[in-house]
Amino acid sequence: MAKVLVLGGGTAGLIAARYLKAEADRLKLDVDVTMVTASERHYMPPLFMEVALGSAEAHETWAPIKNAEKVYGFRVDIDRVTKIDLDNRQVKTEGGKVYDYDYLFLGLGVKYAWDKYKGLAEHGYHNYTLEGALELRKALYGFKGKRIVIYAPEVPYRCGIYPYEMGLALRAYFEAKGLNDVEIKVVHPGDGPARSLGPTVSRFFEKEFEKAGVEFIHHDGHERITEGKLVTKNLELDYDLLIKVPPIAIPDVMAFMADSQDPRWAKVKGPDFRYPGYDDVYVVSEASMPPLGLLTAGVPLHNAAVVSATSILHQVHGGYPIAEFVPTMCLGVGYHTGFTANCEYRWTGSKYERTCYLLFKSPLIKEMKASFYRGWLDSLRL
Ligand SMILES: Cc1cc2nc3c(=O)[nH]c(=O)nc-3n(C[C@H](O)[C@H](O)[C@H](O)COP(=O)(O)OP(=O)(O)OC[C@H]3O[C@@H](n4cnc5c(N)ncnc54)[C@H](O)[C@@H]3O)c2cc1C
Repeated sequence: MAKVLVLGGGTAGLIAARYLKAEADRLKLDVDVTMVTASERHYMPPLFMEVALGSAEAHETWAPIKNAEKVYGFRVDIDRVTKIDLDNRQVKTEGGKVYDYDYLFLGLGVKYAWDKYKGLAEHGYHNYTLEGALELRKALYGFKGKRIVIYAPEVPYRCGIYPYEMGLALRAYFEAKGLNDVEIKVVHPGDGPARSLGPTVSRFFEKEFEKAGVEFIHHDGHERITEGKLVTKNLELDYDLLIKVPPIAIPDVMAFMADSQDPRWAKVKGPDFRYPGYDDVYVVSEASMPPLGLLTAGVPLHNAAVVSATSILHQVHGGYPIAEFVPTMCLGVGYHTGFTANCEYRWTGSKYERTCYLLFKSPLIKEMKASFYRGWLDSLRL
């Protein structure tokens, strides 16, 4: 029997485990798929933004990952991984268990490195966790000031379009409350909004910003945040409410897998996300996407998890085709409309090259996005 151990029960882990189990059953392969994940909750993090804006409740943002046992048929153990020993193919947990494996899929997400920049941990609000979103919701609801700054100290962070969607959603939020004089600024290291998604998506956001009166401001690097003030190398901005985007980094338990060139990321080998030197180990998280030229968001992660799962099946069941990194379609929300965009990828031998472009705009996108997230979680509700 081939033992596949999936660490992490987020988007990446769920997709990989689900795919592996379904294909192993279909092909009648003797494969055991076990997931070990620290939280009982499988979150859909984009819904944290809705929580902050009051259009979703906390309980709507997650579903019990243990239900995957009944729905998809693989085993789920709730436990925190404390040690990963690649040479001995062993994983140890807080609960004192030791798992051995033939194939290891690492889907442990990322760490939020709030301490990386002066003042970032102490000041401002965010909706990158459910707890953060609930605090931001209170702050927004009671907001009496004039100046809101949405601040990304560095790129890439989780979900490249988040600050733009948030800026535009906030304009609509305040308008609905009759507050039309709130200044909303997105302060970002890029030259313009959503540059990584190509010129047509970037133009979409530029136009939406113009319509909504949201300002994009480029910054040259972080200096400090104090109460009411953000200072970067080229700016000093006063704010009444700061919404911050966390820098991301490789999780602590995987720190030994960090790339020496940029220790935020895991060492990884394309095209199928293997850890160099260990053909039985796959690393699929936003900490392994940037070194391969990929974007840090759930949609490309979905693809990465499928590619890795097929690569594992290829090893278990010779001849099983390894999936290509197929085009990914993302949905983004603007001011009173939204867009879908497509990214196409080409493996160059060391990295993926991508071409992204806007497909169409529609006010329905917001509803589509909201129902996709809810439908995803509903699939785990019994
Ligand atoms: C506000 C916001 C908006 C977003 N919007 C979009 C969007 O519009 N489109 C899009 O594509 N993406 C979006 N994203 C990004 C998307 O949510 C993430 O890319 C995706 O959730 C990452 O999935 P993951 O499985 O890699 O990590 P996670 O979902 O973080 O899962 C990691 C899992 O590992 C577990 N874990 C961690 N450490 C341990 C340990 N030591 N032992 C055991 N288990 C452990 C955790 O419990 C968790 O289950 C958004 C994210 C945020 C925060």
